Parts: sequence; structure tokens; C-alpha cells
Amino acid sequence: MSLGYYKKPLILTDSGGKDSSVCIHLAKKAGIPFEVTHNHTTADAPETVRFVREQFHELENEGIHCYITPPRYKNKPVSMWTLIPIKLMPPTRIVRYCCDILKEGTIKDSFIVTGVRWAESIKRRKRGIYESPHGEVILSNDNDDKRQLFESCRVKAARVCNPIIDWDNDEVWDYIKDEKITVNPLYCEGWNRVGCIGCPQAQTSGRNRDFQRWPKYMEMYKKAFDKMLQARKERGLQCAWKDREDVFNWWMENDVLSGQMLMFDNMEGGQNV
Ligand code: SF4
Repeated sequence: MSLGYYKKPLILTDSGGKDSSVCIHLAKKAGIPFEVTHNHTTADAPETVRFVREQFHELENEGIHCYITPPRYKNKPVSMWTLIPIKLMPPTRIVRYCCDILKEGTIKDSFIVTGVRWAESIKRRKRGIYESPHGEVILSNDNDDKRQLFESCRVKAARVCNPIIDWDNDEVWDYIKDEKITVNPLYCEGWNRVGCIGCPQAQTSGRNRDFQRWPKYMEMYKKAFDKMLQARKERGLQCAWKDREDVFNWWMENDVLSGQMLMFDNMEGGQNV
């Protein structure tokens, strides 16, 4: 279908997690032409960055084209640490601007494969039902329960296939064991999911564990919060945060400040959040 629609191979998006590793293995077994890309979020664990590089090196040796896409915003290179002062607020569970910019990427005019699965959707886990593979259009790496086996996005002129959308966790791990697939080493250290360090979508206990393991990342967030407070001050924007520790405790929902804060015209572009 990719060759037919776009006259070029499938593009597999690799997050460095186990679901991506399974998709790559399936594509190799299928014997279809494909290439692999990884969106560098800049907040990924060093182990994930190393694992992706090693995996890409091996794939390149097998003749599979692989490339890492650095994040850009408004035509400029960006990182999690420079994005926070630009956006004038930390990323939160509700305002996940970082995923749009750092993780989703800008692949256009292509047929894309992702490793999203319904089993990773909290809503679906609670309901325990499946949906038929047609209809709603979402183009992102979210494990949302509205995701479909095949999707399309007119804006990006892209089509998406999620080949393991209905696999549960046991099926993924059974496949990994049966096929002896090498996965991100963080799984062997007890991490159930590998993603950005301190991701606001994760539970507080998991985020605390991240920062215990990678304290330099906590410091980088705090430095970004310093710059964000300075940027807010320069624009005359009021807030309840006095310093970086206030921001960090609010962001970690440590109950020092209220976990939710109403902000009017405070985000980049004057958006209410
Ligand atoms: S995974 Fe979490 S921290 Fe990383 S880009 Fe998405 S929302 Fe942001």
C-alpha cells in the first residue's frame, strides 16, 4: 500500500520501547521495504538513546535505512529545556505541547507504522472493549482508545498502520521471548514503560523514581523553570510560583501549591490553559 500510494517504503516510527521493537521485527519478517525513524525528544533516558543508536547501527548493517530526527519548532532547533521558557509553562497532563513538538514529528506524504496499542489506553483497560478498524482520524503516538488499525490524516497527507493495536501485554512479551528480540535494557531494570524522564503523563511515584535514577534531568528541568520564570517576568505575567522549587513541586503535584492552577493568557500565543 505504501509503494502504491506514495511510491516509497513504509516508515516505522521507533520510540525505543518494546512495541517499536516488535513492529520492526514484524516488518523484517514480512520482507517488505521499510525504513525506521526515531524522534529525539531530548528528555529520553540515556539508555534509550544508546539503545536506539545501537539498534539503528544493526539495522543499517542489514541494509535498512534508519535516521534520527532532531526536534524543531517554528523552523528552529528546540529541546525540552528550551521549549519550556518559550511556552511560558511546564508541560502538564492536560497541556502536552511537548508531545506535539518533540515526539510526534513532522512526517508527511508517507505511510507510517507505529506501535500504539489499545492495551496501553487507560480508558480501554477499564472498559475492556474493542472498536472496529474504521472512522476516527488521529495522527500521533498516543495510545488513545480511539486509535485504529488504519488511519489517515489529510493535513499531513499521511496514512498510518498500527499493526499491533489489539495485542495485549502478554502477547507482546511472549512474541519478544519467542523471537528472542533485544529490547531496551531499562525493561530488565523494572521499568514497565520507557519514555521521557519525568513525563507528566506518568504517575508521581514513577516520576520520582525517574529523578532518583537520573538526577541531572531534574536539574535540567529546574534550570528550564528558572528561564521560564524569567521569561514570564519580562512579559509582566503574574503567577503563584516564587522560584524554581515552587514550579517543580507544583509540577510534581507535591501539594506545596495546589495541583491545578488556572492561567489566563499566560501561555505562549496568549492561550488560556
Ligand atoms: S512522552 Fe511525556 S514528556 Fe515526552 S513529549 Fe510526550 S508528554 Fe512530553
